[in-house]
Amino acid sequence: MRQIISRGLLACLVVLSVLAGSAVAQTDSNRAIIHIAGDLYRFQNQYHFSVFLVTPDGIIATDPINAEAAAWLKSELGTRFPGKPVKYLVYSHSHADHISGGEIFADTATVVAHERAKARIVSDGVPTALPEVTFSERQTIFLGGKSVELLYFGPSHSDNLIVMHFPQERTLFVVDIVAPKRLPYRTLSDADLDGWIDVLQKIETLDYDILAPGHSSLGTPVDIVEHRGYLEALRDGVQAGIDAGKSLDEIKRSVTLEAYREWGSYDSWREMNIEGMYRFLSSQ
Ligand SMILES: [Zn+2]
Repeated sequence: MRQIISRGLLACLVVLSVLAGSAVAQTDSNRAIIHIAGDLYRFQNQYHFSVFLVTPDGIIATDPINAEAAAWLKSELGTRFPGKPVKYLVYSHSHADHISGGEIFADTATVVAHERAKARIVSDGVPTALPEVTFSERQTIFLGGKSVELLYFGPSHSDNLIVMHFPQERTLFVVDIVAPKRLPYRTLSDADLDGWIDVLQKIETLDYDILAPGHSSLGTPVDIVEHRGYLEALRDGVQAGIDAGKSLDEIKRSVTLEAYREWGSYDSWREMNIEGMYRFLSSQ
């Protein structure tokens, strides 16, 4: 196991709209392996996505999603990439809907997560393998001439969410804090909403081309900027309502977020987003 703490923050926001080929290689009851770029692939299980990197010395996998999905993935990897076991399994954060089933890979893989994830996995009773290697701010995993940088920018969605940067594939894997042109999920639960905006701003300094979210289709760095813009508009609108002494119901009627009407889930989640932001700002 070879690990080196990387130094220096990657700079330069590069806004490119070119996505690498993303042909669906195989599907099986809403499961699929989809090529992203170079040696990096997406693993889809219904509405959840993770990524994995294939190297000559084995595979770096990320969120297992759940035990059944992980068993399917393990079998597919064995067929497609024989002789290349999963050497590392990296969790994006401690939530059960993304990282259940990690034990499927624990026979060959070292499990890696942010240092706060372990306690949350235990306290929440998430059915998965516990992290064996943890870190506080950043860590780079090297394997077979390839690498992935693990970056923690502070509390956002949960207190232990990390983003994963694959420099050779110019791809960033980001779970639950961005969905291209779609509202954030429902009532924004288990989140530090100021921290979430700060983390998106820090992600904007990274140099990559392809955004691989934990839900929905691939995007670009512009989606991070747009998502931060949405959250800031939501925060400003709700705060103005609170300052004006409005009730939650009044704020739901007045904060229309008109500029985002075309985004996915606008009709179903706008009021829930307002409710989550109202609760957060009221508790500050
Ligand atoms: Zn989550």
